[in-house]
Amino acid sequence: MATDACQKYIKDGKLTLSTGCINTSFIELNEASENAKIIQIINYKEDKNKKVGAFKAKIIDGAFAFHPVFFHESLAEQLVKDGIVNGAVNSENSPIIATYSLCPSNMAMESNRLPLMIKSYELLYTNCPALESEKSNLIKYSGDPEDHKGFDKTKITPVFIAVNGGVKTEKTEAPPTTISNPSIPIKVVAPLINKPIGMATRGAPPPMKTNSSGSSNQSFTPISAITPYASKWRIKGVVTSKEEMRTVKMKSGESKVFNFDVCDDKNSTIKCVAFGDVAERTYLVVQENQMLAISGCGVRQANKRFNNTGHEYELSINATSEVAPLKDGPVIVVQYELKNRVKLDELPRKVGESVDVLACIDKVNELNAFTSKNGGNFVKREVSLIDQTGVNINFVLWGDQAKNFPEHTEGQPLGIKGVFVKEFNGGLTLGTTGSTKYVLTPDVDGMAEMCEWYNNSRGTVQTQSLSTGNASEGSLGRDLRLLGTASALQLGRGEQVYMNVKGRIMSVKGETAIYKSCPSENCSKKVIENEDGYRCDKCNISGDKYKFTYMLQMEIADMTGQIWITMFGKNAEQFMGMTAEELAEIKNENPSEYEDIFHRLKFATRIFRIRAKSEVYNDEERIKYNAFTVDVPDYNKLNPILDTVIDRLNALPI
Ligand SMILES: [Zn+2]
Repeated sequence: MATDACQKYIKDGKLTLSTGCINTSFIELNEASENAKIIQIINYKEDKNKKVGAFKAKIIDGAFAFHPVFFHESLAEQLVKDGIVNGAVNSENSPIIATYSLCPSNMAMESNRLPLMIKSYELLYTNCPALESEKSNLIKYSGDPEDHKGFDKTKITPVFIAVNGGVKTEKTEAPPTTISNPSIPIKVVAPLINKPIGMATRGAPPPMKTNSSGSSNQSFTPISAITPYASKWRIKGVVTSKEEMRTVKMKSGESKVFNFDVCDDKNSTIKCVAFGDVAERTYLVVQENQMLAISGCGVRQANKRFNNTGHEYELSINATSEVAPLKDGPVIVVQYELKNRVKLDELPRKVGESVDVLACIDKVNELNAFTSKNGGNFVKREVSLIDQTGVNINFVLWGDQAKNFPEHTEGQPLGIKGVFVKEFNGGLTLGTTGSTKYVLTPDVDGMAEMCEWYNNSRGTVQTQSLSTGNASEGSLGRDLRLLGTASALQLGRGEQVYMNVKGRIMSVKGETAIYKSCPSENCSKKVIENEDGYRCDKCNISGDKYKFTYMLQMEIADMTGQIWITMFGKNAEQFMGMTAEELAEIKNENPSEYEDIFHRLKFATRIFRIRAKSEVYNDEERIKYNAFTVDVPDYNKLNPILDTVIDRLNALPI
């Protein structure tokens, strides 16, 4: 199973081992190599001697096999988290990792042969069969490059695993999922409002003991005990959330994905994921509020972005897994809880995560219908929430959920389980995922206080909105970065990063600040001028019309470094104080004034809200900086932040 980190190493749907990198490591003797080395671990055990590192492995690179390889002791936690532990690595489960630090360790071994040491790595692929067995073409690497002088990696067929955007391609026709009643009709899951199906409020009878289930006398494993190392487990639980079937694009085409959550009588929940044919079959079997027995699935690390169960792992259902409805016996009653509750003023620290929220509805905005670029029709509704922290944020609903959200509910508390904190153009919103559940007036701790606060104090509280206005406000101190630090840490590599930079505008590319773009409403593609007029390759239209669009590039600097930033569309318009059309008119009618406009921008010190994101261009990875907002520094806000930093520095031991 490919991990998230794997995606950037996939080429043409393949994850390929770095042929001969073991040899390279012994030649380079470099602890921080320029290129990632992708290797597979085919054997692993804790080292009892603990002479070098605490963990000892055997690796292959597609050309060579080598041992011993040590993982540095500092990786102990990561190894456990990644399931690289004693007894877990075998020919069926040989993890693939990427490392920049594969290097011989200079500590002598009994055998006079230098071991390799790994000081950092990323897990790329789990539950992977060994790509080459030892008896195959692999050469045992001696540990001395002299012995392998004639090695030519171009003569070796690269060893790879086909990656299906997260799913291993398996061609074997597998027996059908154990299904007790495959004829259960597909039930359209109603949008969840008020009390979700399968959820009981407080005061309901306590969870029932269900060991005497008629379907099986076997004892069940608690969901909380599921780990990749638990052998022979079988769980029983109620389906608390059934997501709609989705189609996702993968490297090798489209695949169906189906997720559902199961909760046991100990109130532990785990997410189950199925792909392809298995997804379609499982979708028919699984119904909300139904008791299931599940066993024989893959266990993998939960992706916290999409998983709000609180469980460290999730289940990956395959063709031979058991997913069987339990007809007899009582249904587990699950209590509605907001285990991951965060206050609204803490949300800026939770961007990209799934959290639980309890807040009062401050305003239910009207339904907003619109047509997308592709011609799809959408409806959207924003519900403004507030809590005792005085912070407002918009909860964004789509489709039926938007339509069915009850209006005139201002002042009522809303509990939301598993809501996604999203940053877009510098503002924050709460978005739903397939497993988000919201409940009006939930019977949870803090609900009464919330109502009371709203009724008595809402009118007098000073509010701050995370969704509108300047969201960088709350983040000013949190995300303040020096350009030198941003470059040195390569912020934006891998995952995009938002940061605030206090910098000075050094130069502005006036000549290319605006360009002629496609006139279609949601398109800003540069048009090509030809004999037919203006052509947009994206919309595939030609005509005599175009519109001007901003692409403003500026060089900004602080005392530690400099970068080029780009501002597009409305953000640039706001910064320039005029539309691109207006600017184009000046360019046309008064070229010297046009130049002056950019000249006057120079040397101004501003606070920039910037997104650093890596982009691959001509096979080269670069970090691009997009600016969203540009503000005059407010020293009343900035100085206390700098004071805090100085205090912290002073407090450091010398
Ligand atoms: Zn276009």
